[in-house]
Amino acid sequence: MEIIHVSAECYPVAKAGGLGDVVGALPRYQNEAGHVAKVVMPMYRTKYLYNNQWEVVHKGGANLGFWWFEYTVIKEATNKQGYDLYLVDIGGLLDREKIYGYEDDTERFMAFQIAFVDWLSHWQHKPDIVHVHDHHTAMIPFMMQHCLNYGVLSGIPTVLTIHNAQYQGAMGWDKSIYIPAWDSWKRGMLEWNNMINPLACGIKCANKVTTVSWSYLQELKYMSNGLESLFEYEKGKCSGILNGIDTEVWDPSKDTYLQNHYKITDAAKGKAANKKLLCETFGLDPEKPLIVFIGRLVGEKAADLLPQVIGDSFYHIGRRMNFLILGSGEPEVEGQLEVMKSVSAGDYSVYIGYNEGLSHLMYAGADFLLMPSRVEPCGLNQMYSMRYGTVPVVRKTGGLKDTVIDIGEEGGYGVTHINASVGDITHAIYRSVELFGDKKKFREVRKTMMKLDFSWLSSAKHYLDLYKTLK
Ligand code: ADP
Repeated sequence: MEIIHVSAECYPVAKAGGLGDVVGALPRYQNEAGHVAKVVMPMYRTKYLYNNQWEVVHKGGANLGFWWFEYTVIKEATNKQGYDLYLVDIGGLLDREKIYGYEDDTERFMAFQIAFVDWLSHWQHKPDIVHVHDHHTAMIPFMMQHCLNYGVLSGIPTVLTIHNAQYQGAMGWDKSIYIPAWDSWKRGMLEWNNMINPLACGIKCANKVTTVSWSYLQELKYMSNGLESLFEYEKGKCSGILNGIDTEVWDPSKDTYLQNHYKITDAAKGKAANKKLLCETFGLDPEKPLIVFIGRLVGEKAADLLPQVIGDSFYHIGRRMNFLILGSGEPEVEGQLEVMKSVSAGDYSVYIGYNEGLSHLMYAGADFLLMPSRVEPCGLNQMYSMRYGTVPVVRKTGGLKDTVIDIGEEGGYGVTHINASVGDITHAIYRSVELFGDKKKFREVRKTMMKLDFSWLSSAKHYLDLYKTLK
């Protein structure tokens, strides 16, 4: 089968979160299973662009409303990612340093999607599946089925994977002129709550919709930023497929970001060496359990609760642990976390920003990884942490619920809590500190976790089974 993934992110070209990790890895596993998977994404001004060789494969032009734009599709020349990687260059719109966060993001991603369908309509043959990811590419199924110029694409099956339903890309009807001439009878396909809603449109138009965990799909039916009834109505074509992790990149025995490699057999020694390095860098005490948080500092991740959780933990449990935080996001949360550094130096530190290398060192050197998320579609951090022998401390929601079993249960290997509240999280931290004190149990838990298989192999197979139902 030939599968084309279309996405705004793909690691290592450009990544802002889990979406990039998934699109960077899944196609490789699909190719290894004997299929032909390709990735198409916008051409941003990233390091990857300048450090690699590219060849031009197509040049074209299309309209975005009244504006005629030209686009160029380039392909990475050496296939070094294990799949064909195509970037779409639209001068002035996509070629910027950041992936998102510009005022004209609507125009940028609309033009990207138009360029993609336009290019695809010029192909000599047609792929078997077009697989789009999140709202930035979710209008592609509509364009393929209902835009008059692209009728040749209408028979190609489409799959939409939702990595995060909070972000939907909604826009006013004034922007409807951007959509290439479309069959006006199909207005209902675009509309949700009196707006054009790309994610809702994708859910309505794609042949199959997947979410990145089964529990998240169930949660979306009662909490999905306004799309609840749509998920209920379309449940027949929706399914949950848990993300895998790229075990080539995320492997403590050969992680290129680590100086101290380790396997399950020498995890205690290897992790201690990484912890020492981290503690030296951030002025922490390596004798105490090290509890880390890695991620976007936003409400979804319950990052706003962290300052009080840390303060309450020191107050109620005592200064028996270290905290280290890596992330960026809401300015108030960043500010509060920075300020705490001066009052809690010695057992607390924070790095505000994005730092891939530091994140790897933290997965390797920490004892516990905190994920009190209010919403967690799948979550990759907890899977990375378990592979690196770091105990996840998570709220039972979405993908966290599907991947972490509490130590209180038979065969359990994580610490879970029910509510995203300061009290519940602090109690989970208390249980973690106690677990750290029980050396025998802690060693057993670490071993159990490190043996778990979160590789893409089984998830990739589920996607292939899904595609087969569309042929
Ligand atoms: P998200 O909701 O952000 O997609 P995921 O758990 O699915 O959450 O994926 C997060 C990914 O982004 C992980 O690979 C994590 O290590 C990485 N990440 C998040 N924030 C940072 C940061 N500040 N620095 C380095 N890596 C980060």
